[in-house]
Amino acid sequence: MSHATGTLYIVSAPSGAGKTSLVKSLLEQTENLHVSVSHTTRAMRPGEADGVNYHFTSRERFMELVGHGDFLEHAEVFGNLYGTSQSTVENTLAEGHDLILEIDWQGAQQVRHKLPQAHSIFILPPSQSALRERLTQRGQDAGEVIDKRMAEAVAEMSHYVEFDSLVINDDFTTALDDLKAILRAKHLQTSSQQSRHTRLLQALLSD
Ligand code: GDP
Ligand code: ADP
Ligand code: 5GP
Repeated sequence: MSHATGTLYIVSAPSGAGKTSLVKSLLEQTENLHVSVSHTTRAMRPGEADGVNYHFTSRERFMELVGHGDFLEHAEVFGNLYGTSQSTVENTLAEGHDLILEIDWQGAQQVRHKLPQAHSIFILPPSQSALRERLTQRGQDAGEVIDKRMAEAVAEMSHYVEFDSLVINDDFTTALDDLKAILRAKHLQTSSQQSRHTRLLQALLSD
């Protein structure tokens, strides 16, 4: 049987749009789907754990990894460095698992360039005021950090046109269903089905 390579998804959103919550629910409800754990130099938030939410890394160590070419992409976001491990992405896809990268628009541009087959999704909030409310409600960031993230949000959102799919996260369940629909449609693309159903297709076309 031929071994299908997994599909790579890029999920981006302005901070507070609901990307992390949506991806978490999607992972719980989808088989064979993994999420890449990024490296970051930002401080750990209460409730976060090293190796779970991020690999929390010093700036020195991060730059060492950059020097070794260990990142598929890396970018500076809100004054912190974030990067995606190249080997994790390669290994996960080669094992036939689908993989989500939760990365910013700069990282998305780099990944698209290297892996054009990736499917990119941008998540938008229903309004600017809802975005601020969610950032505040989350209660994880200081007031000045929230102001900084809000100030960046409009510039970030202007990149929506670069993405293959757009999801508006107004009602959470609807947005989750939209994400599931995108994954399901991707799964049913002919090239994807061909590698999964090689035998059936051969049998159907035999005399
Ligand atoms: P949150 O998304 O608001 O919860 O904030 P985070 O601190 O988790 O992420 C900050 C920003 O960094 C977001 O725009 C993420 O998409 C981005 N980010 C996270 N991981 C990566 C990564 O590995 N690479 C890149 N390029 N960006 C990342
Ligand atoms: P991101 O990862 O994009 O920064 P989070 O997933 O941390 O965003 O969500 C930010 C906050 O908004 C969280 O407190 C989350 O519970 C809340 N949230 C997410 N989606 C919705 C929604 N559709 N309606 C109301 N609140 C939401
Ligand atoms: P936070 O610090 O709130 O967890 O994340 C802030 C931003 O960093 C989010 O927009 C998130 O998508 C982005 N981010 C997280 N990990 C990565 C990564 O590995 N690469 C890139 N480019 N951005 C990332």
